[in-house]
Amino acid sequence: MNYRSTRGKTDEVSASKAIITGLAPDGGLFVPKEIPAIDFKALAGKNYCEIAQAILQAFLPEYNTVFLQQALENSYGRFFNDKAGYLHKVKEGVYSLELWHGPTAAFKDYALQLMPKLLVEARNMNKETDETLILVATSGDTGGAALAGYANLPGVKIAAFYPVGGTSEIQRLQMETQEGDNVFVYAVHGNFDDAQRGVKQAFNDTELKEKLAYKNKKLSSANSINWGRLVPQIVYYVTSYLQLCNDNTIAYGDELDFCVPSGNFGDIMAGYYAKAMGLPIGKLICASNQNNVLAEFLKSGHFDARGEFYKTSSPSMDVLISSNLERLLYHESGNSETVGRWMDELAANKEYTVDEETLTRIQKNFVAGWATEENVDEEIKNIFTQDGYLCDPHTAVAFSVLHQIQKEQGRTTPTVVLSTASPFKFSEKVLSALESEVPADAFDAMEKLAALTGEAIPASLAALNGKTERFNIQIEPETIVELPLKM
Ligand SMILES: *Cc1c(COP(=O)(O)O)cnc(C)c1O
Repeated sequence: MNYRSTRGKTDEVSASKAIITGLAPDGGLFVPKEIPAIDFKALAGKNYCEIAQAILQAFLPEYNTVFLQQALENSYGRFFNDKAGYLHKVKEGVYSLELWHGPTAAFKDYALQLMPKLLVEARNMNKETDETLILVATSGDTGGAALAGYANLPGVKIAAFYPVGGTSEIQRLQMETQEGDNVFVYAVHGNFDDAQRGVKQAFNDTELKEKLAYKNKKLSSANSINWGRLVPQIVYYVTSYLQLCNDNTIAYGDELDFCVPSGNFGDIMAGYYAKAMGLPIGKLICASNQNNVLAEFLKSGHFDARGEFYKTSSPSMDVLISSNLERLLYHESGNSETVGRWMDELAANKEYTVDEETLTRIQKNFVAGWATEENVDEEIKNIFTQDGYLCDPHTAVAFSVLHQIQKEQGRTTPTVVLSTASPFKFSEKVLSALESEVPADAFDAMEKLAALTGEAIPASLAALNGKTERFNIQIEPETIVELPLKM
């Protein structure tokens, strides 16, 4: 199984090389040359790690079976408290796939617990001896999940950069208290874009690259464009489907829709691969927040990122240019030259329009909608009061869009909503949506939410209280470029 670039100007590479390289040298993203078909029905009754093993083996045949088994067990076995792929019935025909039972209480743990292990093994397979320095700019969830995933792995060091005051208090504490000798955390003066710009500057600095090479080190990213981050996310679409078959809620072959709160389009793209591999998915429902570029594109074929950027209560979805969309364009247009042209237009003008034929194909698989901030508040409140179910603002975006689409299009297909973060990561926002007064302290807010709703605070979040903050270093974005030499 080889990988090629969506822009077609890079030689094919093996899976391990694709994972080491991240972004293809021609600026494109790596995609599998063929999409393997799997007899999913035969996996019914198997556990999360066994199903994951079958899927990973198909996409990453280079990796040794025993290695994968251990990596999966170490990623999802103990850390997810037996709740990997946990499905909660919200009401008839609507299920919440709770992806936040991992170490940092956000769905990014699924990718970032496993991918670092895949990277270390890829380095072994390719006999790489230099040290990899991972730099990651974060607006919240990615930083914590990446630090937790890379902590104490051999041959790798990781630094996370977050904007001062730009994350929730819990997200800040998750990073500042992260253990491990190979992790570094910096709070950057400015906003997320400033942090991102500083990191990009380091990646583009040829002098830095040479100096690092001299020390036998090189830079890499933990960004969601890496194939190693996408492939673990295919698994929970399959386990959800099979679980509903096991429960006799659906029969194998029945359509099941998935509604996905989307930002960079990585999570929902994993659903697309699951469908392409043969899983009987009906529609993939793409839910955007007020930054609705994605949803509007899927409806019209016109991608237009020229509008305003909004800071919303679902910050991990505050994205205007969704990088993983390029993979969909490649598969549905079947033409890397055309993809390259659209991406050039995007870089130059922040917009492009796909042809009718490509749009029609995309719409066979996807429907889309978006939610306002008022929709999010209403949804958190309604779902809690009507269905007794507590959800975070990202998940509420998805519920809101699902309800809109059910109403407008009369869709009645059973649907799994991907719940991407624990409500306790955003206790303040959830309390205010429930029209409850919000305590000033983040831990008081968590406890109040627990008392009000009867839900349990995830142990990993409660454990942050009183934990030592190890770093507390504030820097200017311009100095990020100097740090890799000190790592
Ligand atoms: C990252 C994230 C998303 C968006 O996922 P994409 O793969 O970027 O589309 C949604 N919700 C939460 C909580 C996230 O952390």
